[in-house]
Amino acid sequence: MTARGAVARRARRIRLLVTDVDGVLTDGRMVLSERGDELKFFHSRDGVAVALANRGGLRTAFVTGEKSPVAQARADKLGVGAVVLEARRKGEVLEDLCAQFGISLDASAYIGDDLLDVPALQRAGLAIAVADAPREVTEVAHFVTRARGGQGALRECVELILRAQGAWTATVEAYVTEHGGRPRRASRRTIGAFPREHGGHAP
Ligand SMILES: [Mg+2]
Repeated sequence: MTARGAVARRARRIRLLVTDVDGVLTDGRMVLSERGDELKFFHSRDGVAVALANRGGLRTAFVTGEKSPVAQARADKLGVGAVVLEARRKGEVLEDLCAQFGISLDASAYIGDDLLDVPALQRAGLAIAVADAPREVTEVAHFVTRARGGQGALRECVELILRAQGAWTATVEAYVTEHGGRPRRASRRTIGAFPREHGGHAP
């Protein structure tokens, strides 16, 4: 079996997607004020990724070693299923999350970027490292994203899993339709017709 086939086989089983926060959903940098308030940069397409994962039938969880109100707020806004703050033993946290959701470790995917993630990556059915993770992390991963941390890595993982499960196209269409879009075939005709009617060029 090819490496890509082996990843797809693992991805087909996934029902719970767990991600680290700093360095995966962000580029790892933290901005701290003198009062200790923290600011982080998240990628909006990863926000949509959580919505797509939920819609596609995956449970979702954020795990961070930090005591981070920002991570909690981001998870709350996106409707993430569980958030674990101050997680220093992430392998055990992953086991607890699987127990909480009634899902086997084989059916869990974990995305990480640094050494604290290694114990969880070693347990997950699908272990994913971001592109800029150090070698000690990428070498325990089944898959390394093209995106660096904070640049849409979660979105890439949700697409990988839902595509393997044959659910990506329908999930995207349902999301677009839910937000006022037309079914894809109808919108193609419309896009083709619109510029000509207005004297422009067809795309
Ligand atoms: Mg991290």
